[in-house]
Amino acid sequence: MKNLKLVSRETQKRTIVNVSGVEIGRDFVVIAGPCSVESETQLLETAHAVKAAGADMLRGGAFKPRTSPYAFQGLGLQGLKLLEKAKKETGLPIVTEVVDPRDVSWVAEFADVLQIGTRNMQNFSLLKEVGKSERAVLLKRGMYSTLSEWLNCAEYILSEGNSNVILCERGIRTFETYTRNTLDLSAVPSIKELSHLPIIIDPTHSTGRLSLIASMSMASVAVGADGMIVEVHHKPQEALCDADQALTPKIFSKMMKRLRPLKSFLNNLPVE
Ligand code: PEP
Ligand code: MN
Repeated sequence: MKNLKLVSRETQKRTIVNVSGVEIGRDFVVIAGPCSVESETQLLETAHAVKAAGADMLRGGAFKPRTSPYAFQGLGLQGLKLLEKAKKETGLPIVTEVVDPRDVSWVAEFADVLQIGTRNMQNFSLLKEVGKSERAVLLKRGMYSTLSEWLNCAEYILSEGNSNVILCERGIRTFETYTRNTLDLSAVPSIKELSHLPIIIDPTHSTGRLSLIASMSMASVAVGADGMIVEVHHKPQEALCDADQALTPKIFSKMMKRLRPLKSFLNNLPVE
């Protein structure tokens, strides 16, 4: 691919993004937590549950880019303060979305990883701003974007000086309606051919179906992803956002018990 001066595989072997000791690109890293931060009880109960189940980082949106302007938009600063509290209690680094270039510097005071959502993948002023930040960036694939467009967006961030970029395949729009999006699992080995950046998958927004999350998570381990980001809510039926696809802590914990052994099994396969 042309013009990928910094993200191309040719420039270096593999990038490992170190977030407070969690190494994305080395181990299979699991980021879990609610879609949005809703209350202290919701966040802390969920955070402790995902930590106990073996998650490596906590996710939670304080700014929610919703399809409808009337849907819950997130708690903003109050949400970030709750994430700070959850981090203090659990030790889990925080992954949270930033939607406006003007917010990057102060959101970065609360976030260990700045998430760029699918709807903002090509928001170039936002990309340039997170490129100036010292925080790692989780760049989700635009739901209508090619691998080339996606990698060019990562190039924007690296070209501003920030090389701590993690890519996230979160499903693309196809003609299929049974699932919310179509998880492009082939994006994982394709990105590994094209770039040195780590790539994780999002089984929640790609499927939009609770019943498919565990199988897609197992598949992501098998296809060589560097981790996943998954939504868990202590009481999914009460969630203000993405209620139909949030795992309960119990289901998440069961899934984690199957994921780790699969990873070790694959690590022990003979090298091709
Ligand atoms: C999210 O992770 O909360 C989210 C909104 O994801 P996406 O941008 O992939 O839809
Ligand atoms: Mn969500």
